[in-house]
Amino acid sequence: MQPGNAFSLERSGGFAHLPPMQALGTIYLVGAGPGPVDLLTLRAARLIERAEIIVHDGLIGRDILAIARSDARLISVAKQRARHTLPQEEINALLVREALAGRDVVRLKGGDPFVFGRGGEEAEAARAAGVPVEVVPGITAANGAAAAAQIALTHRDASSIVSFVAGQCKGLAEQDWSGLAGKGRTLVIYMGVSTAAQIADKLMADGLAPDMAVAVIENAARPEMRVLRGLLAGLPELVEREAVQSPALIVIGEVTAREDMAVIALAQEAAQ
Ligand code: SAH
Repeated sequence: MQPGNAFSLERSGGFAHLPPMQALGTIYLVGAGPGPVDLLTLRAARLIERAEIIVHDGLIGRDILAIARSDARLISVAKQRARHTLPQEEINALLVREALAGRDVVRLKGGDPFVFGRGGEEAEAARAAGVPVEVVPGITAANGAAAAAQIALTHRDASSIVSFVAGQCKGLAEQDWSGLAGKGRTLVIYMGVSTAAQIADKLMADGLAPDMAVAVIENAARPEMRVLRGLLAGLPELVEREAVQSPALIVIGEVTAREDMAVIALAQEAAQ
C-alpha cells in the first residue's frame, strides 16, 4: 500500500466505525458417499464429528448424521418449505452467511460434491464472497454401485471408457448421447429412473443395439440394494415392472452382463 493511502485512511478515521474484524469460517463441501457410514472418508468423518453446523441434503443416511456432535446444528435443505428443496441460491446464501459470521460450516452431500452435486455452484458462491472453501471428495454413486454389484466399470475385456451422465437435465432430448454407449464403453446414468424410456429410445435412435446389456442399481451399497439386469429395449418395462425407486443408477454396457456370464459358466461347469 502507498504511504499516502495509509495517511488518508487514518485521517478519515480509518475503519473505527466498523465492528472488530471477525475471522471468517470455512465452508467444507463434504462428500458423504453412497450411504453406509463406513464408506465415508476419514477426513469426512472427522469434519462431521467436530462440526457445529451441518447443512445436509436428503440422501444422507441417519447413521452418518449420528456421528455428529449432539449439540451440532443440523440443517436439512431437502425437507424445508413443505418438502420442497431449498433453492440453490438460498443454500449458497446460507453457507456464506454462516461463514461470514465466523462459523465453519460442513455442507454434506451424497456421493461426491462435484459429481452432479451442485458443489461447483457452492464453491463459486464461497469464492465470490471471499470465504475459504475446502472440498472433501466422496465415493460417488457410480463407484459405490459398481463395487456393491460387482460390475467392473472398465473391465479390461469389455470397456475402456466410462461416462457419467445426468438423465434429468436441461434439454434431455437435445443432449448428444452418441458415442457415450456402445461396444467398449460403459455409460452410467444418474437421475435417470423417471426418464428411462426416453433415454432408451434416444440411445436406440442413435444406433445402440436394442440387445445391449443394462443394469439398474437401486439403493446401491445399502442393505436394501436391488440389482436388476436386462436389455436396453426392455429397460422401460424393467423399471416399470420392478417399480424402481430413486436413488437408482442405470448402467449400460457389456460390463453389466459379465457377472451373469461368469455365473452361467460356473453353472455349466458344475453340470458337466
Ligand atoms: N453427488 C451424488 C449424486 C447426486 S445426484 C454422487 O456423487 O453420487 C442424485 C442421483 O445419484 C440419484 O438420482 C441416483 O441416480 C444417484 N444415487 C445417489 N446415491 C445412490 C445410491 N445409493 N444408489 C443408486 N443411485 C444413487
